[in-house]
Amino acid sequence: MNPIPVNTPLFNGNELKYLTECIETGWISSEGPFIAKFEKEFSQYIGPKYGVAVSNGSAALDIAVKALNICTGDEVIMPTFTIISPAQSVVTAGAVPVLVDSDPITWNMDVLQVEAKITPRTKAILVVHIYGLPVDMDPILQLAKKYQLKIIEDAAEMHGQTYNGQKCGSFGDLSIFSFYPNKHITTGEGGMILTNDLALAERCRKLRNLCFEPNGPRFVHHELGWNYRMTNLQAALGLAQLEQIDHFLTIKKDIGNTYQTQLSFLTELGFRLPKPSTAFAHNINWVFGIVAPGIKIKEKIVEGLAKEKIGTRPFFWCMHQQPVFQNMGLFKNESYPVAEELANNGFYLPSGLGLKQEELVRVTEVLKAIIS
Ligand SMILES: *Cc1c(COP(=O)(O)O)cnc(C)c1O
Repeated sequence: MNPIPVNTPLFNGNELKYLTECIETGWISSEGPFIAKFEKEFSQYIGPKYGVAVSNGSAALDIAVKALNICTGDEVIMPTFTIISPAQSVVTAGAVPVLVDSDPITWNMDVLQVEAKITPRTKAILVVHIYGLPVDMDPILQLAKKYQLKIIEDAAEMHGQTYNGQKCGSFGDLSIFSFYPNKHITTGEGGMILTNDLALAERCRKLRNLCFEPNGPRFVHHELGWNYRMTNLQAALGLAQLEQIDHFLTIKKDIGNTYQTQLSFLTELGFRLPKPSTAFAHNINWVFGIVAPGIKIKEKIVEGLAKEKIGTRPFFWCMHQQPVFQNMGLFKNESYPVAEELANNGFYLPSGLGLKQEELVRVTEVLKAIIS
């Protein structure tokens, strides 16, 4: 039996053609023409005026935090249930992540818990859209206005998703995307920052390029940044992938629909499946997660699938339970029961764009067999 990995990317468009163009013209570094093209096309697709392509999504978050001058003494409100990147960017900038629990249905941050966490030190709300459904943005936008807070929007899993008809990745003062191979479109490694603010865009460009002064003498620096530049090869891949985004969104929708239909019996057994839609969005199924009624049951299922060479991934591990942050003295005695339950009991099934129909059928059949 062939293994079914948790993710397989799909390259059916102009990927090879554009990559060949890079090789034939010799433009492979961050100086090549595909970068500006990809920045323009992607920012137009999402909505904001400016796009700054970078080496990965985590780099985009580092830049976003620094571009907003978030530093020692500042607090940034974010979900505890997320990948480590947003919290890492805030902590390495010297600021403190202030965590909120999750909504048990959408698995996104519980927006009703945000206002109580605002203090005079709060500088920004870092919104992270999780797994396929967007965060309820209106309450967040209202709070940002009321308390004059910045919004960083981590839309790394949200290519093409909308909130009340407006594209995710267009709500933040700075919004970020990742193009890791399991995202809706990939550049291998890659990321982008989007903004409508020209000054912020220019600051992000400078930060990704070691803070070379665009108009000053070369090799004279007034500030530290990073080499977080995207290469022309990555941008070539990204442009070819972006041309296929509508098709990719349809594939993901079909994967989600098939799992929902085939696995609906699980809900009667106390499992939770992703919510197919909310009042403001349909699920784009970045990944198809399942929350088991207990950690032992989850482990049994994951082992059973692994035995049949079917890949899964556990859900994110909460930020307040990360040893690295606990060792820094962060989040002492904090607990977030909804997020902890998701982290303990959640896992996701193969959901990549390259997943074949017969593989999808086999995953659901093996899962049914394990559970019976
Ligand atoms: C993938 C992801 C990132 C990080 O992106 P990389 O390109 O892997 O660094 C950040 N935030 C979220 C929510 C993600 O899913």
